[in-house]
Amino acid sequence: MTTSAEELHHGQLAASPVKGDDQRLYVDLDKCATGECSTCEIQCSYYYHTQKPGNNGIVSIAELATYALVCRRCEEPHCVNACPKDALEQQKDKGNMLVRHALRCVSCKSCSHACPYGTIYPENVPLLIHTCDYCLDRRGQKGEPLCIKSCPHGALSLKSGSIALDENTFLVGDHLIVHSTHWKREKA
Ligand code: SF4
Ligand code: SF4
Ligand code: SF4
Repeated sequence: MTTSAEELHHGQLAASPVKGDDQRLYVDLDKCATGECSTCEIQCSYYYHTQKPGNNGIVSIAELATYALVCRRCEEPHCVNACPKDALEQQKDKGNMLVRHALRCVSCKSCSHACPYGTIYPENVPLLIHTCDYCLDRRGQKGEPLCIKSCPHGALSLKSGSIALDENTFLVGDHLIVHSTHWKREKA
């Protein structure tokens, strides 16, 4: 099983996700970004991180989604150049998609400050690694995935991987569907 953290930190994200009938975690980034949440406080049951300070798998999901969908994939990436630990890498074989090597990252946020488009959100590059296994082994158990029922804004759900995609809905890797509205000049 490939978890989102592995996809993020080892560059294992499927570059060309395919549709399927399996149930995938659906994240509405528009709802996450409403500002109503100062910090995401969902409950998460990832097995290895149940102790304090606790794991929030959605943090890793948000980081993954922003690298895949929001980052402009610059030819001259200021974020990468600003990192003092060589923790950020542009994957040339994956269309310049970023990967953050978390064991090198010290969470200094230099990349966030350096990005001219503001696409690396500081809360998404934490010192402690958050991770998500999509609850693949726990589906069907009582209350799982916990994040879905504990999100107060209904930003999370499970949807079929064969869902009709529109211009703002994307498959990301093999287990994730992300809704994120494109920036439009007239709405800025
Ligand atoms: S799907 Fe499971 S592991 Fe992932 S954030 Fe939700 S509760 Fe945590
Ligand atoms: S937070 Fe600092 S160490 Fe981590 S990837 Fe960004 S610039 Fe590099
Ligand atoms: S994070 Fe910002 S600076 Fe880095 S490649 Fe993406 S858009 Fe460019």
